[in-house]
Amino acid sequence: MSARVSVLPVFVPHLGCPHACVFCNQRRISGQLKPASPDDVEQVLKKAAAFPRNGEKRQLAFYGGSFTAVPVALQNGLLEPAYAAVLRGEIDSIRLSTRPDAIDPMTLDRLRSYGVRTVELGAQSMDEEVLRFSGRGHTAEDVRCAARLVKDAGLELILQMMTGLPGDSLEKSLYTARELINLRPDGVRIYPTVIVRDTELYDLWQKGEYREHSVEDAVEVCARLLPLFEEAKIPVIRLGLNPTEELSSGEAAAGAYHPALGELVKSRILLHRAEELLQGTKPGAHIRIGISSRLLSQMIGQHGENRRKLTEAFSPASLDIVPVEGCLSPRLLSEENPGDPRGGQTEKDSV
Ligand code: SF4
Repeated sequence: MSARVSVLPVFVPHLGCPHACVFCNQRRISGQLKPASPDDVEQVLKKAAAFPRNGEKRQLAFYGGSFTAVPVALQNGLLEPAYAAVLRGEIDSIRLSTRPDAIDPMTLDRLRSYGVRTVELGAQSMDEEVLRFSGRGHTAEDVRCAARLVKDAGLELILQMMTGLPGDSLEKSLYTARELINLRPDGVRIYPTVIVRDTELYDLWQKGEYREHSVEDAVEVCARLLPLFEEAKIPVIRLGLNPTEELSSGEAAAGAYHPALGELVKSRILLHRAEELLQGTKPGAHIRIGISSRLLSQMIGQHGENRRKLTEAFSPASLDIVPVEGCLSPRLLSEENPGDPRGGQTEKDSV
């Protein structure tokens, strides 16, 4: 079993970013107003060193901004204390995130010389129109090139995508997911769009020129995306923005901001699987669905939402959802149809 990784985050908001993506106000998203300095890195390392490791791996992560677009001296200034900690054995690796058009072989060589192990690229979409409407300033081909360079350099590649950007649709999100899968990343983060105050997207939304990507929209789209990555054996390491005090206290004006978005999506996937399973069920049937006890609450849904939706769609006389160990997907344990005294017993797995 691989060791648990504890991530030590350092935010470098807006540092070096040559663009203003319509959705982005990094200072607010990270909950921090001033850019990170080498001192901040030292402080993060010092705090972590005060706690025993308990066998976990430690990774220092530079998030936000566009790390490799920052002047080289500044990048190196941030990397030096991190690398010194790697050499002292206090941390195991360094990760950073950046834009696809701020990557080249020389930069990757330099990052490797500072012990960087993981590069995250903000792809956001592989649809040119969505990229243009969102003010990204790079193309889908930039994402493909940068991803290949990162992999050729022997570094771990994480790709980030967003859903619900201006001009986006379910089909375009599915296309983006398939394109990202073709690049064989080591992991993916999915960020459904949140409308943050003080951004161009907020103004577009206020003027009625952008329709909010609601929590419900995001749940429905992500419930289609997650199984694609799962099938391709690419881990989705994050779904939705990390909740921060600022976002929760009103900076997230609208959009897909929900502290338990990942749970809602997993619950929706189970709902879709149960719906497939119950196709052809006659109204008035007595239905029993089995699911592993650890997935029971996800199967029932928040406030019983999945149970309610299944009841509305299939009108059973009774619907029991019961724990069955080892059932990671809903299984139809029995279906007793009306007028069938033997019960029309069934046992059926979802796929
Ligand atoms: S490239 Fe990244 S940091 Fe720069 S504006 Fe866009 S999202 Fe924000």
